[in-house]
Amino acid sequence: MSEEIRVRFAPSPTGPFHIGGARSALFNYLLARKTGGKMILRIEDTDLERSSRESEENIKAALKWLGMDWDEGVDVGGPNGPYRQTERLDIYRKYTEQLLAEGKAYYCYCTDEELEAERQALSAKGQMPRYMGHCHNLTPEQVAEYKAQGRKPTVRFRVPADQQIVVHDLVRGDVVFDSNGIGDFVIVKSDGIPTYNYAVVIDDHLMKINHVIRAEEHLSNTPRQCLVYDALGFEKPTFGHISLILGKDHTKMSKRHGATSVDQYRQLGYLPAGINNFLALLGWAPNSEQEIFSMEELVKAFSMDHVAKNPAVFDIDKLNFINQHYVRQLDGEAFFEFAKPHMLAAGFMDGSETPEKLAWLKRVVWTSHEHVCYGAQIPDYVKMYFTEEVAPEDAEAAALLQGETVPKVLRTFVEELDKIELDGANVKALFKTVQKLTGLKGKDVFMPVRVALTGNQHGPEMTEIIPLFGKEKCKARIAKIIG
Ligand code: GLU
Repeated sequence: MSEEIRVRFAPSPTGPFHIGGARSALFNYLLARKTGGKMILRIEDTDLERSSRESEENIKAALKWLGMDWDEGVDVGGPNGPYRQTERLDIYRKYTEQLLAEGKAYYCYCTDEELEAERQALSAKGQMPRYMGHCHNLTPEQVAEYKAQGRKPTVRFRVPADQQIVVHDLVRGDVVFDSNGIGDFVIVKSDGIPTYNYAVVIDDHLMKINHVIRAEEHLSNTPRQCLVYDALGFEKPTFGHISLILGKDHTKMSKRHGATSVDQYRQLGYLPAGINNFLALLGWAPNSEQEIFSMEELVKAFSMDHVAKNPAVFDIDKLNFINQHYVRQLDGEAFFEFAKPHMLAAGFMDGSETPEKLAWLKRVVWTSHEHVCYGAQIPDYVKMYFTEEVAPEDAEAAALLQGETVPKVLRTFVEELDKIELDGANVKALFKTVQKLTGLKGKDVFMPVRVALTGNQHGPEMTEIIPLFGKEKCKARIAKIIG
C-alpha cells in the first residue's frame, strides 16, 4: 500500500483571509479527501506583531463555512501537536541548539542599521542584497565584545557555497536554484522566535507532511527550506506550487480588483458551493468541459496532474455565473433566508415584520430568484416594491406616458382593477378587458401601465408585479399621472 498522503494548510493569521489562501486550502483539502489522506491545519503565528487570534478565528470560520474540515490541527488536536507555532518554541529550540553545535548555524550580532547599510552598499554596486557573512566566523573575543555591548543575537543558517538546489515540484517540474544567490538567512530572531522558513520545515517534518501544496509566491522560499531539511537530515516532502491568481487585467490580484477576502464574498452573498467551485477552477482544470462541480464531484475529479503552472485569472463574471447556478438551486425558504441580511441592510426589512408582511416579502424576494448572481443584488432587483416615488427611467419611457390614449387606458385600467381579485391570471384577463374596452392594441395598453407603475419599459411580468403592489399602490401611482 502506498504511503498515506498528508497535507497541511498553514495560514499566517495576520489579516483578512484572502481568497488565494482559500484556494490553497481547497487544493490541499481535495487532495486529502480524494486520496483518503489527512488534512492538517497549522497556524503560523510567529509574526507576533501582525498575528491575532481574531484573524485565526476568522480563517477557521471561513474554512468551515466553505465546508472544509481537518483531521488534525488547531481545535481538533492530534498526535503531532501543538498546531500553533508560538506553542512550539521549545521544539524549535532543540533543533537550533543542534544546528549551532554542528556549526550549521551561528549567532549573528549585526544590528538592523548595519544590515541595512550592507544592503544599500550591495544595491549601489548593482548586486543582489544579501547577508555577506560578517558574523559567520567570529572569534570568542569578538563575541564577548558584542555581548558586552548588549547586542542580542539572531541565529543564522550557514548556507553552503556552490550548491545547486533542485526543488522537485509537482506543478513546475524541477526548479533549480544556486546557493550562492542566497545569503546566510536568519532562522531565529533576536527575541527567540523562529522565522517562517525555519519553523515550517521542522513542523512539516514532525507533522509527517509529505505533500506541501501552496501558493507560487513561496517557491522562492523553498530552496532555503530545502537547505534546512538537508541540514537537519529530514526527508523532503513533495512540493507543489500552485499558480498566482491574477486579476482580469493580468496583474496580481489585489484590492484594486474588488473583493479579495472570503469574508467580503460571504457578505456580498456568494454561496460556499459557488466559491469552492470557482476556486477549484483557478489553476485546476478537469478532464472535461464540465464547469459545475459540487464539493463531492470535486473530490472525485481533482488531481494534481491537472493543476496548471500558468497563472490563473480571477474572472468575476465566471464566479457570478457559477454562483448563480447555486443560487437558483435554493428553494423558496432557503432563498428568503439567503436574501434576509441583504434586505435588512437595504432597509427593506427591519426584523419586526408581521407574518402577513413576511409572506408578502417572501413573494417579493422570490421575483429576483432567477435573476441575481449573488445576494447583495437582491435589494436592487426588488427596490420598486419599496419606493413610493416612481418616475420614467428615461425620455423614451416618459414619452410613452404622453400618448393621446394614455389617460383613457389608465382610467379604464383602474376601474377594472377594482372589480377583480388580484392574482396573476386575473391580471392577465384584466389587460384583455382593458384592450377590449379601449379598442387598443396590447402594447398600447401594456406599456403605459408598465411605465406608470414601475417607471421602466422592461422588467418582470406585470402579472407578477401588480399582485405584489396591491390595488392601493397601483391606484396611487396611476393617480399621480392622470390626476
Ligand atoms: N504561513 C504561510 C502563509 O500563510 C504558509 C506558507 C506555507 O504553506 O508553507 O503564507
